[in-house]
Amino acid sequence: MNHFTFPDGSWESWTEEQCMEALYHARWPQGFRCPRCSYAHCSVLRSRKHPLYVCASCRHQTSLTAGTVFHGTRTPLRMWFRAMIWLAEEATSVALSEILGVTYKTAWLIGQKLRDALTQQSNEQLLSGLVAVTGGIYGWRRASSSLAVQPTDQPVAIGGTVEGGEDIREIKMAHLSKRETGSSRLISRMAHMKFSDAHVSDDVKAVRAFPYFGMNKLAPLSAVLMHTLHWLDHTLQGIGPKHLQAYLNHQSFVFNISRKAQKVVPYMLRLCATRARITYRELTLTS
Ligand SMILES: [Zn+2]
Repeated sequence: MNHFTFPDGSWESWTEEQCMEALYHARWPQGFRCPRCSYAHCSVLRSRKHPLYVCASCRHQTSLTAGTVFHGTRTPLRMWFRAMIWLAEEATSVALSEILGVTYKTAWLIGQKLRDALTQQSNEQLLSGLVAVTGGIYGWRRASSSLAVQPTDQPVAIGGTVEGGEDIREIKMAHLSKRETGSSRLISRMAHMKFSDAHVSDDVKAVRAFPYFGMNKLAPLSAVLMHTLHWLDHTLQGIGPKHLQAYLNHQSFVFNISRKAQKVVPYMLRLCATRARITYRELTLTS
């Protein structure tokens, strides 16, 4: 039994019970599994606001959200589901706080947790097939025409699986360290190699690399990168180096989901139900 029971209609009409049921199926598509011993039978304690599942073998107690991205949340699931749709809308945390009627801090934290689920998934999946790679500098201001890397520059590489012609099926973006790119603003061959090492499968058929000034040779890939850098600066009004990778993963998701025949909420729900939580402290820890 591998299906989602999914609320239809607008999010205002979704009930918390429907969302809980959808989460149950996303987390345990084959039915309950004890997170400690994998036993398949449990009893359910319904005396609390959210049911507790008690393993019939080891007596371990777990809630539906324990250990998932929703662990410990006080925000109703239906709001999380609406936030998943927001994630694909390229909007700001201010917009999310207005949609949900929550504080900016809560909206930002929901966004970061969803982005973290994307990051965990991105770290597990490599690009394969025919992959094209190029790069650019986030923070390249027109005021400086120097080709030497500036302190505020953040080098970014983008790789895309290119299907026949120049149609891109899937992308990944990476915030590279200046150690990897060297002192020139022209993203070097070394940066391409670093990106390929980390993000492209070993069974890849070929990697084509384009230096910065050759970017227009692969216009669709360059266009995605340019769109992303513009989004970071204009919609989000600038993102610092600490969270840059999370936003690159966010934008990669926006691009990739638009090419999948999959709906946003079931896709994100599966990621969030099967990936470990990250705490506010971990998200805000200074590096
Ligand atoms: Zn157990």
